[in-house]
Amino acid sequence: VAGPAPPTRHDQDRLLGGLLSPAFDENSCRSRYASSLYRRPSSFRPSTFLVERLRRYEARHRRCCPGAPLFKEAVEHLRSGRNAARSECQYVVWTPINGLGNRMLSLASTFLYALLTDRVLLVHAPQEFDGLFCEPFPGSSWALPAGFPITDFAGIFTMGSPTSYKNMRQAGAVSRDHRNVTAESLPAYVFLDLIQSFTDAAFCEADQRVLAKFNWVVVKSDVYFATMFFLMPAYERELARLFPEKEAVFHHLARYLFHPSNDVWGIVRKYYGAYLARADERVGLQVRVFPEMPVAFENMYGQILRCSEQEAGLLPKVAHKDGAAANHSSAVASGSRNNKLTSILVTSLFSDYYERIRGVYYANPTETGEFVEVHQPSHEREQRTEARAHNQRALAEMYLLSFCDRIVTTAVSTFGYIAHGLAGVRPWVLLRPPSPEAPVDPACVRSKTVEPCLQAPPRRVCGVAEGTDIGALVPYAGHCEDEHKGLKLF
Ligand code: GDP
Repeated sequence: VAGPAPPTRHDQDRLLGGLLSPAFDENSCRSRYASSLYRRPSSFRPSTFLVERLRRYEARHRRCCPGAPLFKEAVEHLRSGRNAARSECQYVVWTPINGLGNRMLSLASTFLYALLTDRVLLVHAPQEFDGLFCEPFPGSSWALPAGFPITDFAGIFTMGSPTSYKNMRQAGAVSRDHRNVTAESLPAYVFLDLIQSFTDAAFCEADQRVLAKFNWVVVKSDVYFATMFFLMPAYERELARLFPEKEAVFHHLARYLFHPSNDVWGIVRKYYGAYLARADERVGLQVRVFPEMPVAFENMYGQILRCSEQEAGLLPKVAHKDGAAANHSSAVASGSRNNKLTSILVTSLFSDYYERIRGVYYANPTETGEFVEVHQPSHEREQRTEARAHNQRALAEMYLLSFCDRIVTTAVSTFGYIAHGLAGVRPWVLLRPPSPEAPVDPACVRSKTVEPCLQAPPRRVCGVAEGTDIGALVPYAGHCEDEHKGLKLF
């Protein structure tokens, strides 16, 4: 009997080299198979090992997900307050904190944790997070169902919580030697607090062995802690097979997991069709002005110009009026007019960068004679993470940026990390000035990797002498251009 037909080239592209399962109904999530059509083909291919692993994960997810008998059983144990000795399904529950970019970094990291530890990833989605993304696993859901015994995620999972692994260890409630820990003696769940600089606990092999005994782990984090697994000898072989190209870890995880819901995709498609589709080249410019570093408009604008100059026409060069007029008329006369259209997509909470840049191209021709359009989808003025429609627009803009051929991002912005990570391109990063008034030199640098930065790695790494440079531990990770103490893969 003949087996199924081999995938056509079209299928390979649509499914991102096998990264995506073909088992979904296309209409329930239009972005899933369509977003690749909006981008140049990725230069990274998922390994066959990763593809197999994802299919295996999906099967496990179906077996253990809400609605399945095994899930009911596991929830009964959770309700009882005691950890069960043996459980076929083990879970990691992700709960959000901070902005959307932070959330997506930590959610992708939590999924990698689930892959490495054979857990099932479930998501606590408060109303402002609900409806942003499609279900990522076929035939099942990743959302915690109504009636789940834990409800007060914001109240219970705080730094001082006695359920936190770090606090349990400090209080002597759990031994760090896994041989002294029996699963039945443990509480029903453990909270892994990986918020900003609290990434200390959990990344030692000893901790991982104890954590492995808990059937329920709740993770709250706002950082890309995935990077830490690459420093752990225990996962080295596995990760090398899953991700032979370390530069593309987030790229693959994000393209696998994050598919905008039909509502969000509607915004993306509409905007792309109206403003970006006709362009020969698309340049994304993400300008993030952080409230704690209120860089003045003129400074930031000057930095963008210096970056473009330094990087030889990152934004199309404007011609000096006299020379341009001469050039332009001779070009027109000789019939060699350049009909290239470049679209600059600006994303920012404020509209003044867009207005200034648009004004410049309105009033001046470009050196090459190419046409330039400047667009900005929204200017929300302030971050409103609690509002669903605001988050939908933010996600739509991350996606639109990720369709650009060249991307300029602002230092330490996780919003920017998501955009270039999804795109699979190395961004130019506008560096952070030492203070809001001081200029920074160079204005920007090209990132040496597509990977996001783990901005706050633990101060110490297990089994490594204190004071050792965390950026020199493995050949495929080093400090970040935009945050020197940070760590990223390349
Ligand atoms: P980060 O603070 O830059 O690291 O990025 P986050 O995404 O974690 O948080 C910033 C939040 O502010 C975003 O999620 C949006 O809610 C909002 N925001 C910031 N910049 C933009 C922008 O350019 N467009 C839109 N629509 N929202 C933005």
